[in-house]
Amino acid sequence: MTFSDLNLNELLLKAIKDQGYTSPTPVQAQAIPFILEGRDMLAGAQTGTGKTAGFTLPLLHILSHKKNAKTHRKIRALILTPTRELAAQVGESVKIYGKHLPLKSAVIFGGVGINPQITTLKAGVDILVATPGRLLDHVGQGTIDLSSVEIFVLDEADRMLDMGFIRDIRRVINILPKVRQNLMFSATYSDDIKTLANTLLRNPAEVEVARRNTSSELVKQSVILVDCKRKSALLGELINKNKWEQVLVFTRTKHGANKLSEYFQKIGITAAAIHGNKSQSARMKALDDFKKSSVRVLVATDIAARGIDIDALPHVVNFELPNIAEDYVHRIGRTGRAGCEGEALSLVCVDEAEYLKGIEKLINKKLDSRIIEGYEPDLSIKPEPIQRGRGGANRSGGNGGNKPVQKSSRPRSESHRKNNNRQH
Ligand code: AMP
Repeated sequence: MTFSDLNLNELLLKAIKDQGYTSPTPVQAQAIPFILEGRDMLAGAQTGTGKTAGFTLPLLHILSHKKNAKTHRKIRALILTPTRELAAQVGESVKIYGKHLPLKSAVIFGGVGINPQITTLKAGVDILVATPGRLLDHVGQGTIDLSSVEIFVLDEADRMLDMGFIRDIRRVINILPKVRQNLMFSATYSDDIKTLANTLLRNPAEVEVARRNTSSELVKQSVILVDCKRKSALLGELINKNKWEQVLVFTRTKHGANKLSEYFQKIGITAAAIHGNKSQSARMKALDDFKKSSVRVLVATDIAARGIDIDALPHVVNFELPNIAEDYVHRIGRTGRAGCEGEALSLVCVDEAEYLKGIEKLINKKLDSRIIEGYEPDLSIKPEPIQRGRGGANRSGGNGGNKPVQKSSRPRSESHRKNNNRQH
């Protein structure tokens, strides 16, 4: 199938060609015809499947075909994303795909001044990409008019719920015009997602590209068993020996991310950390430096890494396994994107055995594990519970201390997940 078979506007086809895309990805091939028909849609697709173009292209097509009746531009499409990074990247995609069309788009998120956003909104935009908090700030201040929204997109809905945005989402939905097209994207389906879909979507077309909770098949996944306190040295050696140039490394905590990034810099590997304590501009700069390859290693926490979109990112390393198994799927979704092979490596110490089991159960696959000569785990070390926050980071960052995973300490309820994620 080619993009021309999807009956997209010539100017969109031109932008697609400029991007070098030759054929639609499965989610695009399935979703675009439904969206063009005006149907609501529930799409199960994780990052890396081409889902952003999957909704952006038909949305641009619809808006450019149906003329805006008003003389002043009004927001006709609203795209909600959970994080600032994802908002910026979706905004970038809207600009890229819509570059030959006379439509205006804007991105608004928190952590930056509100006044330039007010000026932009006043001048009029057709497509708005926003995070929920800042969008509602504008609603509260009366600086936004959502009364003309025709298409509403909820991107990474599962992550929105994980981050505790459900009330904000409901508030936004209540403000929108009753008649509109709704598109909802989610990498995983929980009962909460199904409930939200039932209230938001009318007779939705359902599209599912990656099987539920399965990890991308293009990603080569493996595990190295190693003691916690030797992980930093091992990873430094792997990066140097294998001459890895672009490595995204995940830690569980902000402190752990900082420590590891400092360690790499000390041993001569350029690195930067991104997490929730860094300012928006520092996060953007780190991401930019990483994309330009002026830093080799980007160390990130789960929340900060959401929406990181780098073409063909070759290596993702779980320096520490996530305590929520679904986060593993999100993490490794950063590599093996859109047809490129990627490698996801997890460094696992004795304390993380339960996390590993949870992940293997979720992805329904046993991960190959190996031991590296010189870094053999010390079998006399007994597992201890993993502490959240600073304790856990210190331990894994190289300060010894071994705390095992306790089954009871693994968050199961939504509120637990919410609190846990918010630390990042
Ligand atoms: P997404 O899942 O939206 O985060 O997209 C993942 C990556 O795939 C992005 O870097 C896109 O630029 C790229 N991409 C999207 N559609 C295509 C396509 N049809 N062919 C090749 N690459 C694509």
